[in-house]
Amino acid sequence: MRIDLGLSMPRLVERLRLGVTDGSVERWEKNLNRIGEPRRTPITCTRQEPVNEPTTKAHMVAVGTGSDPGNYDRLWSLAEVLTAMDQGRTFYAQGEIPGNIAGVEKYLCPSCTRMHIRSSPDAAAGNNLDNIRRCLSR
Ligand SMILES: [Zn+2]
Repeated sequence: MRIDLGLSMPRLVERLRLGVTDGSVERWEKNLNRIGEPRRTPITCTRQEPVNEPTTKAHMVAVGTGSDPGNYDRLWSLAEVLTAMDQGRTFYAQGEIPGNIAGVEKYLCPSCTRMHIRSSPDAAAGNNLDNIRRCLSR
């Protein structure tokens, strides 16, 4: 069950030590089960440019996806994300707290008149695309 979720035992133990209760891990599992569809892809980190601008001005240029909230398995360019969305894949922002997720939507930026992505309006601070961690270089 836990292996299916891609959550390694050391990582789980670490979370439990951090004070995440069994109850919230269970809720997280239920949330993931309810999502159910493999084509819902968790975004665990982002890259925005220009990097020195506040996130309200910068654009999402790449996102990382994976099963581990603190890391990424694959780095997607913005164009790849937009294409995948057009093909029916949905993305959601995965905050560092298990179960803390929010939808991701496309939008036409009025300044540069190009398509970009952002968190859906119901996102909370912890699962907002602007607030999840930056993708590190490899
Ligand atoms: Zn723009």
